Amino acid sequence: MTKKITCIICPIGCALEVDIESKDVTGHSCKRGEVYGVEEVTCPTRVITTTVKLNNSLYPMLPVKTRTAIPKELNFKCMEILNQVQVDAPVKVGDVIVKNLLNTGVDVVATRTMQVREI
Ligand code: SF4
Repeated sequence: MTKKITCIICPIGCALEVDIESKDVTGHSCKRGEVYGVEEVTCPTRVITTTVKLNNSLYPMLPVKTRTAIPKELNFKCMEILNQVQVDAPVKVGDVIVKNLLNTGVDVVATRTMQVREI
């Protein structure tokens, strides 16, 4: 049995076909696509990018992302947690906003520096 997926590693978007049992991948144009194809049928992962509420700044939301990819099955739980998070400015890019998200060992970090709002 095979699974057809589109490689999302680069904009070319090769059409991959992965044999579920043997993990053989066809349709890829490079090694990264082959690795992605195998991961997608074994343990699919995603980097989560979103925003959290930001207080005391010119902007009301702070862009954040998981430092590395987390298991795809945790996406919704991750969003539920991040929807509850509020942080206060100032924040620097790279600051840890949520440590060890869902015990994955992966932190959620700020992707932008935000200053305190001047009154
Ligand atoms: S297989 Fe390689 S070239 Fe094709 S979309 Fe994936 S990363 Fe890009």
